[in-house]
Amino acid sequence: MPDRYSRLKHRLGCGEIVILDGGIGSEMLRRGVTWEGHKVESEPDAIRAIHADYIRAGADVITTNTFQLARRSYMNHFADLDHMRRVGASDLETRPPLLIREGVKRAIEARDQAGAADVSIAGSMTTLDWCFRPDMAPSESDMRGEYRETVEWFKDAGADLMLFETFNSSKEARMALEAAREVGIPAWVGFVCDNRGRMLNGETLPEVVRALAGIEPDVLLFNCAPVPDITSALGEISKVYKRPTGGYAHVGRFDPPDWMFTDEYPPDEYLAAAREWASMGAQVLGGCCGTTPMHIEALKKGLPRTLASSSKR
Ligand SMILES: [Zn+2]
Repeated sequence: MPDRYSRLKHRLGCGEIVILDGGIGSEMLRRGVTWEGHKVESEPDAIRAIHADYIRAGADVITTNTFQLARRSYMNHFADLDHMRRVGASDLETRPPLLIREGVKRAIEARDQAGAADVSIAGSMTTLDWCFRPDMAPSESDMRGEYRETVEWFKDAGADLMLFETFNSSKEARMALEAAREVGIPAWVGFVCDNRGRMLNGETLPEVVRALAGIEPDVLLFNCAPVPDITSALGEISKVYKRPTGGYAHVGRFDPPDWMFTDEYPPDEYLAAAREWASMGAQVLGGCCGTTPMHIEALKKGLPRTLASSSKR
């Protein structure tokens, strides 16, 4: 029997629509669980309940609550490693792999409890530095080692695939995809786009497609941008890229480090946008910050089961 991810990939090959979950960090805030520290260890019930609600809503793929857990996320607060060892909490060096392991475990527990053996677990990882700042990307050699190390933690923890989310340049995406290939885990990439269908570093989508030649993700998505920006990017990519694509927009405003909820896109209006994305060929659809299990349920109930013209492979 083919493994879980092979079955998912087969569905993509058949032109089926695949439902991704919605926001995790913002959903914790909405439920009154503070986001700081990811809480995968200290609030296991709260995290499991969010995963369970997304599975119940109809998500085929759920993402772990591990958005920014590369070693660098902690190191950035200190002058260097010695300084961190001298003044930082004593477990900071071991915390990233621990929190990734616990984060993947919460998703596996939710899947087991729901008896949803076919739901895939995507290890969520963003850029090594700050996702909205392409200018802060580390050097190529640093990236190579850090992606490899972090992706290995996800694979060892039992993730079915990597979801590299809110990426801002093709260069960093390439590094992440190469690491996933070396480690031997499937990978999807979500790019954050601006309002003109470009990357935050100015790259156009044809440039991104050329830069990823030979190392394409199984699904190329756009995420963490407002609904109209995701619509423009999906329109642009459909002209130059024939492999599976997807999108998941955010609803609301970033209010660092929290999220400001707005009522711009209640579930039925979000569904209308997602239907448009599917009509443009986007196959993997879900929600980013500010979306809820109600949004995902609306997608599950209201989207077609397959793309109108299932010419994608
Ligand atoms: Zn987002």
